Amino acid sequence: MTDTAQNVNLQYLRTRLGRICVAIIGSTPHEMLERAAEAVRENTLLEFRLDYLAKPLAAMPRLKEFLHLHREMTAIATCRREANGGKFDGKVADEMEVLGKAAAAGFHLVDIELQTAETLKQADWKKIRGHSAAVLISYHDFKTTKDLDKIYARIQPLHPDFVKIVSTARSLADNVTMMRFLEAKRDEGNVVGICMGDQGIISRVLGLRAGSRFTFASATTGEETAPGQIAARTLRETYRTDQVDAGTRVYGVAGDPVRHSLSPIMMNTAFHRETVNAVYLTLQTEKIADLLLLIREVPVHGVSVTMPLKQEIMKHLDRTDVLSQKIGACNTVVRSQDGKLIGYNTDVAGIVRPLEQRIDLRKAKVLLLGAGGAARAAAFGLKQKGAEVFILNRTPQTAQKLAREAEAKTIRRDQLVKANFDLIVNATSVGMTGMKQQTILEEKELNAKLVFDLVYSPMETPLLKMARSKGLAVITGAEMFVHQGAEQFQLWTGKPAPREDMWRVVTHALRSRVEG
Ligand code: NAP
Repeated sequence: MTDTAQNVNLQYLRTRLGRICVAIIGSTPHEMLERAAEAVRENTLLEFRLDYLAKPLAAMPRLKEFLHLHREMTAIATCRREANGGKFDGKVADEMEVLGKAAAAGFHLVDIELQTAETLKQADWKKIRGHSAAVLISYHDFKTTKDLDKIYARIQPLHPDFVKIVSTARSLADNVTMMRFLEAKRDEGNVVGICMGDQGIISRVLGLRAGSRFTFASATTGEETAPGQIAARTLRETYRTDQVDAGTRVYGVAGDPVRHSLSPIMMNTAFHRETVNAVYLTLQTEKIADLLLLIREVPVHGVSVTMPLKQEIMKHLDRTDVLSQKIGACNTVVRSQDGKLIGYNTDVAGIVRPLEQRIDLRKAKVLLLGAGGAARAAAFGLKQKGAEVFILNRTPQTAQKLAREAEAKTIRRDQLVKANFDLIVNATSVGMTGMKQQTILEEKELNAKLVFDLVYSPMETPLLKMARSKGLAVITGAEMFVHQGAEQFQLWTGKPAPREDMWRVVTHALRSRVEG
């Protein structure tokens, strides 16, 4: 192909590139093409991971036929060798043979790893460049995010049509490094940048806004080709990645672990429903300095704070509300117009609101199980509403301390059989999926009209099942979860939260977890 024809071809290619590239895997051509046929219904940019095929060369006629049939699609051919983190066990020459055949079969781009590209001779380039396929030179760092400019400088002399630099995020700050790099290269219009790993989700969602030409996604959950990769539909429907623009406000849940948090699905649904230009992400970190840097640099407009940062963040905030101060923990940060960080505790509302819809808390006699963070929110919230609170905890000293601070009482386990309460609140983690101990009380100790279990995963805890079988009214932890999230939404947006939609997606996700 002549240089002019190549340039025209490249210009055309750039105009038709989608923003989400779906990686397609399969060990046989049949499996790969079946997945591609499914993906191409919703996506126009597909990467065929030829290194996943047992015999990539033998698959070429069927791939060619597929490309011919789906002219709406732009296709990238990748045949990453094992040495570069792929599945292909051939040599550089074998990889180049596969990619050369892919270019001849009609693939629009071929992905050549930098380490491979640096060893190629003029004749190898001629074979690849002899077809209309554009060359994407990629670099993968499976350990860190560093030296992005140096890597770019190594790629440039090889005259790539597209550049792809993929690193691994070891901190939230690594996403900032990647986004600053993308911003600096935005005008080139041909650079793709992503951080892999659980901490790299920020770059996957915000990378396009920073200037990445496109981003990568898996076809479905379970078909990921890189750590931290997100399914295309989740990127599009939950995070609405292709709509994130300069005006999009960024929020997130910070702590460790947050990978399986339901907050992103709940909050992104709420933002979408109320047409708020905002996106909500998982911000996985246990380091407060890392979180504060991200808040400042992105900037992040609001954070749901979870373990282990709820207490520690307090001293880094410019202001906190009275309840957070009493409880000694904050679960919500609002970033004001002038960059000040203000802390609130919406766990209290999450506990008190569902109760007020059912009982009169004034003078209600409450048994509170636990003395950790959630129990502290319950104790202060219930006392503020005029309830009489009796605390029981595995470690009696913490129960006594909380009782003193919240002006509540303590109670011994042996006193429960003969006691009567209006309400029992479980604020221990007993009953949570994965916990060895599943029931905090015996049936004969459940002497109350109403039982509220703050544990929300699973939604139907053993304690709630026992209470229901005894004919008692119950409140699930999912209700607290939605109420505390709704309060956060209101603090961040000033709008009433779409509680019903939030409840619908959270309970649906929790039920799917049980079925899954
Ligand atoms: P935390 O600060 O770690 O406190 C855990 C509490 O559980 C402590 O009182 C602890 O007693 C007790 N505990 C743990 N294992 C126990 C066992 N085997 N037997 C008896 N007691 C045990 O945790 P947290 O933040 O308060 O959270 C507690 C629960 O509330 C978690 O399941 C969490 O998911 C849930 N929560 C739900 C929501 C919601 O939105 N629904 C919000 C926040 C929390 P010791 O003091 O003796 O260790």
